[in-house]
Amino acid sequence: MTDNNTVNVSKMTDEQVRDLVIVDYGHGGIYTGTYQTSGKQYHHLSAGLWVGEGIVNRCVAARLIRWLLRAGVDVFDCVAGKEWHRAPSWLELAQQDVPLAHRVARANVMYRQRPNSPLISVHANALSRTSTGDGQPHRGISLWTSPGETRSDGLARDLWWALVTYDGHGMQCNAGRDGQKDHEASFAILTRTVGPAVLIEGGFFDNLDDARIMISNQGQRSLAYSYHEGIMRWLRRQRAATGGGNGV
Ligand SMILES: [Zn+2]
Repeated sequence: MTDNNTVNVSKMTDEQVRDLVIVDYGHGGIYTGTYQTSGKQYHHLSAGLWVGEGIVNRCVAARLIRWLLRAGVDVFDCVAGKEWHRAPSWLELAQQDVPLAHRVARANVMYRQRPNSPLISVHANALSRTSTGDGQPHRGISLWTSPGETRSDGLARDLWWALVTYDGHGMQCNAGRDGQKDHEASFAILTRTVGPAVLIEGGFFDNLDDARIMISNQGQRSLAYSYHEGIMRWLRRQRAATGGGNGV
């Protein structure tokens, strides 16, 4: 009895000191051979290039999960509703367009267990009203948080730092209207989740230069690495501030 208790306490302590990151990836991917989300795609006519945001998001998210697992961080996938213990390929991630309310609910279940876990929602941007054409000129990366000053703002600042420090992706970060590093919006993934959360628009898929980066191995690898470095910097800050692990 005593031995069992000892083992349980030891196990609980080990789980409590591990950091956990919640990863969200927007829209649908490829399911039974079909791209899942109407819109959220762009056909660059003159270049003959098609890009599906849901596919790019999954490619970057899969690489991010790989980096996080390598760093010894637990990863919860709030689209599939599961933890990953090995690095998935993007095709192993959930491909259906899981409703936002479900993703928020799954994230909040995890937040209740590990309340200091950061959530990263991986997206890409577009300005065009159509899914076909010769694109638009606006480029770059934007970081979004809920309105007002919360812990999410510090997470966004660390992500910005990483994106400009590890800039192999070749894209700039676009500041918010007030010159802050984050843009603010009442997106459900930011406001209905109960922990720190940042939505990243990693370039504009209806801009040809950004689209070429985001479909490339180098672009996806660099974006994912930057996201990982920003998250790890924020987690280190949390540990330094609290003197403890995630969820303690
Ligand atoms: Zn999106």
